[in-house]
Amino acid sequence: MTSTAPFPAGTILGYPRIGPRRELKKAVESFWAGTSSAVELEAAAAGLRQATRDRLAALGLGRTDSAIPESFSYYDQMLDALCTVGAVPARFAGLVDADGHIDLAGYFTLARGEGDSLPLEMTKWFDSNYHYLVPEIGPETEFSLSSDRIVREFEEARAAGFLTRPVIVGPVTFLLLSKPSDEAPAGFEPLDRLDDLIPVYATLLQRLADAGAEWVQLDEPGLVSESIHVPRAETLSAVQWAYGTLGHLAQRPAIFVAAPYGSLDDALPVLAGAPIEAIGLDLVRGTLPETAPGLDGKTLVAGVIDGHNIWRGDLADAFAQVTGAGALSPRIAVSTSTSLQHVPHTVADETALGAELVSWLAFADEKVGQVVTLARGLADGREAISAELDAATGALAARSAAPGVRDGAVRARAAELTDASYSRGVYADRLAAQEAALALPFLPTTTIGSFPQTGEIRRARARFLTGVLSDAEYRDLMRAEIARVVALQEEIGLDVLVHGEPERNDMVQYFAENLDGFAVTENGWVQSYGSRCTRPSILWGDVSRPKPITVDWSTYTQGLTAKPVKGMLTGPVTILAWSFVRDDQPLGETARQVALALRDEIADLEAAGIGIIQVDEPALRELLPLKKAGHADYLDWSVGSFRLATAGVRDATQIHTHLCYSEFGVVLEAIRALDADVTSIEAARSRMEVVTDIQANGFDHGIGPGVYDIHSPRVPGVAELTELLDRAVAAIPAGQVWVNPDCGLKTRGYAETVESLGNMIEATRIVRARL
Ligand code: GLN
Ligand code: ZN
Repeated sequence: MTSTAPFPAGTILGYPRIGPRRELKKAVESFWAGTSSAVELEAAAAGLRQATRDRLAALGLGRTDSAIPESFSYYDQMLDALCTVGAVPARFAGLVDADGHIDLAGYFTLARGEGDSLPLEMTKWFDSNYHYLVPEIGPETEFSLSSDRIVREFEEARAAGFLTRPVIVGPVTFLLLSKPSDEAPAGFEPLDRLDDLIPVYATLLQRLADAGAEWVQLDEPGLVSESIHVPRAETLSAVQWAYGTLGHLAQRPAIFVAAPYGSLDDALPVLAGAPIEAIGLDLVRGTLPETAPGLDGKTLVAGVIDGHNIWRGDLADAFAQVTGAGALSPRIAVSTSTSLQHVPHTVADETALGAELVSWLAFADEKVGQVVTLARGLADGREAISAELDAATGALAARSAAPGVRDGAVRARAAELTDASYSRGVYADRLAAQEAALALPFLPTTTIGSFPQTGEIRRARARFLTGVLSDAEYRDLMRAEIARVVALQEEIGLDVLVHGEPERNDMVQYFAENLDGFAVTENGWVQSYGSRCTRPSILWGDVSRPKPITVDWSTYTQGLTAKPVKGMLTGPVTILAWSFVRDDQPLGETARQVALALRDEIADLEAAGIGIIQVDEPALRELLPLKKAGHADYLDWSVGSFRLATAGVRDATQIHTHLCYSEFGVVLEAIRALDADVTSIEAARSRMEVVTDIQANGFDHGIGPGVYDIHSPRVPGVAELTELLDRAVAAIPAGQVWVNPDCGLKTRGYAETVESLGNMIEATRIVRARL
């Protein structure tokens, strides 16, 4: 039997899993370090799950009406789905027991690799700063229900008196986000395996129904973006088939398909025609369609509260959208637009932000409160919630009039920009001037900027922040660290040195703390991937640079060595992408303000004798709109802001940039347009696939395809590195190739870093000798 329970009036698509004080991170990392057992980790996780249910019920979500989602994950929701359906890649077959199960240690091994087995590739989750693990699917993949964790968590909730709603990545999205396995023949697409995957989802739904689940949430964000591999028509027929089949199961919970991060467009009629019971629309990114035949027989879950940002927003407008949705279906429910995994737990944990700024904000708990308010308005009428709506409207008005939100000097400067502000001279002239100025060897070696952030560094920062260390004492400790890092790089034999970024808590927050227009949170952590969290700053006002930020650190470092030292800055797009950005003006306008502040910093670095300046833009890909229609406008302002930041330098000054992903083909035009003299990119996890893209498309500037993955502690061998470098120089003219790791080293330990970099230098020597 299909459950006929009504959909709850108000819900959220998911809740932060990391815990208000990053409890999950601590528990997981202690398990990795061997200081706690799997049993202890499971107990900690169960405690967190129960705390979440209690919290959500206290905030007003129903305890027993499926309003509370079970959205916990030890590491990642795609990895969870992979383990649920048993799609473990062949190289990890040893982790699977006789019953097809994988234990917690094995689960983490898929994410982190072990020995010669590379971990699953990691990539951005839609246009968020969350990263998921990419399943590898081939004709050989055997699907079977291999983990009942999702059932057990539902039962755990029931035992505690809650009837919750299990959440899992839907089958179409699971395959759309997978990549073909190494074993797969050319032309194979993971979506080809849908027929074999659906029976596993069917079994899961039956198990959930047996356990008493009334609703299940299948997340299908894959439907809101255009796959570059799968034609849209194929995706739509996959949806039709998948949900036709699951919907006709004799025994299952009611099915809620959620489509966060964009608009369903032509997938909406397909879902509306499928035998499912509820559809979730992201009404923050997408808009309400005028008609949707078939939707009137289903619950329309209106995602009107932004799960992506931290602003309190226009609650009255959200309510109007909810009531407007009533034209499409008599059954409306209120929800967040996406999971709340992208926002911190609660504003109540922020004591230093100031009451005014706080009154403009809503983190996860406050957004749950907003959902509950709107649901009450839906049930009892607008009058019942008019006080809340008016309070939000008042806060919005106060915000737009507050000092600092608009700064006349910043706006006047932006208004004076001309085309010339955005362009450097001819590349060939720059190259010649730089070769003369820098005299680097063939295949120059370097790193991406940060060196390991040791406990000692973090303790020193904590002592500084609490006033135990004075400014001068802290600076001296950081300088000593820089001197160590410089000596180490000279010893290893790197060509272009870095200062190691010890003084930076985070590559964006550091700049946010030193620029006007930003505020920094105390506990505003969000999960980036696995146990890794970031604490985005809040960009609330017009941005300017009160004084130089990095110049003293860089000149101190250059004074320690005869080798060139790279100045290190974070680019405007990344500063935006990894902050919570104001939503009251176009992103491009905000980016331009940040770019001008950086342009001043770059001019000061150059004047102080720094000949190479790297402007990191690891997030350039991340903000790329999911649909092609938005690409041109996005590339215009994002590339423009990078160029505005960097175009003021002389020919001889070498501008580097670093991007953290490898789908080079997707944004090759953007990278070309950035016009950086040297670009370093991630390439190791995809085993240098990217160089063939470059070869095919042509690219004449410097390029450093990362030769090893820094997301795992694994040390790459010389032979492996040599092979990757050989591959690079076979595809790209060797004069253009730089040698570097995939990304910064801050999350690594020293032992593996020294070994890995040593191997990288050795491999470079071998390849240089052959050229
Ligand atoms: N320069 C930064 C670092 O090395 C770049 C980090 C990044 O790309 N995420 O840490
Ligand atoms: Zn990176």
